[in-house]
Amino acid sequence: MTASQTSAGPAGLDYQRVFEDAVAGLKAEGRYRVFAELQRRAGAFPKADHYGLAGDNGPGEVTVWCSNDYLGMGQHPDVLAAMKAAIDKCGAGAGGTRNISGTNHLHVLLEDELAALHGKEAALLFTSGYISNEATLSTIAKLVPDCVVLSDQLNHASMIAGIRNSGAEKHVFRHNDVEHLDQLMGRLPKDRPKLVAFESVYSMDGDFAPIAEICDVADRHGAMTYLDEVHAVGLYGPHGGGVAERDGVMHRLTVIEGTLAKAYGVMGGYITGSAALCDTVRSFAASFIFTTALPPSLAAGALTSIRHLKTSSLERDRQKEQVAKVRARLDAVGIPHLPNESHIVPVMVGDPVRCKRISDRLLEQYNIYVQPINYPTVPRGTERLRVTPSPLHTDADIDHLIGALASIWAAVGLRQAA
Ligand code: PLP
Repeated sequence: MTASQTSAGPAGLDYQRVFEDAVAGLKAEGRYRVFAELQRRAGAFPKADHYGLAGDNGPGEVTVWCSNDYLGMGQHPDVLAAMKAAIDKCGAGAGGTRNISGTNHLHVLLEDELAALHGKEAALLFTSGYISNEATLSTIAKLVPDCVVLSDQLNHASMIAGIRNSGAEKHVFRHNDVEHLDQLMGRLPKDRPKLVAFESVYSMDGDFAPIAEICDVADRHGAMTYLDEVHAVGLYGPHGGGVAERDGVMHRLTVIEGTLAKAYGVMGGYITGSAALCDTVRSFAASFIFTTALPPSLAAGALTSIRHLKTSSLERDRQKEQVAKVRARLDAVGIPHLPNESHIVPVMVGDPVRCKRISDRLLEQYNIYVQPINYPTVPRGTERLRVTPSPLHTDADIDHLIGALASIWAAVGLRQAA
């Protein structure tokens, strides 16, 4: 054993044992995560090669039903061409932080495009949506003197981390409960600065925030608003500007945050807002300043994807059709799913062990990949399969998924509705 692998700690503590016990606890609860080893096939979305089942015949083909590349833009020929051209032109990496030789012309073009998409003065790019939330919330809630953050109960871990890192006082309002938000803000001193942080589409239940009503309450209390549109950009609104664009309320939000990794199919995160706010985050946020910039090829791919989805609704329209078909077919075979108006279809299992078993059987017997979603991502007792139909899933894919689920459902001891 090398020094770095040593087990012996002070007072007889066995370091390795601590790690083994932590993982054993997860396994005992049925919520130990196993990664599916896939290789996505460019041009064949949503098909992928699966290496976990590899035998003498090599990897098997699976149909992926849980991708966040919601529209298959990660394989769009224009996006791939733009990325390849950028690699040929600029090389592989950015070469530094934005501050020290890493700002590429493509980053600036992309920020201009994002600001325009959301009708804001400015935008700022980050290496992921997670970092954009952490960096921005931690910076603005810290810089505004005596700021209080009002945070939706179901906000993403990256928003929670940002708020925590700001050191600001935080109050959690019940999920999408505008009255509760109003009450909580009403109890705070009128002259205290406030920031309301929430999402537009909640990724596990697929429900929408009442954005306009939240803005009304925020306005009454003189609060700033921070909206995470990670699961909505590219998908909602006539230009893919998100739910706030669809609802005509983009101008009412202080910050709109998004990702380039889901509907846009690439990678990276961003905020849009006033020039002063973006400049402040650019100047003060450690997780923006002290990290290498996004590779130019990713910026080029994202730029092409955004521009495409700004003018093409084809992908969004076809996705809606396929989502509606999946829901109708689930209803027809009595398999429960959470009703919502979004593109996310949560198939409810309610038990971590069964959820994993269904997912395993789908993969092993039907070549269908849907990851089980367990605690802490969702509350215990609400374990689910989060199905994300795309415009590229065919009707035959849907037939196969529903047939497989119907066969497995009873076999794992779950009841189908009459
Ligand atoms: N915000 C929300 C609501 C998310 O669900 C996620 C990731 O799934 C993120 C932010 C992080 O985005 P990214 O994957 O680009 O880091």
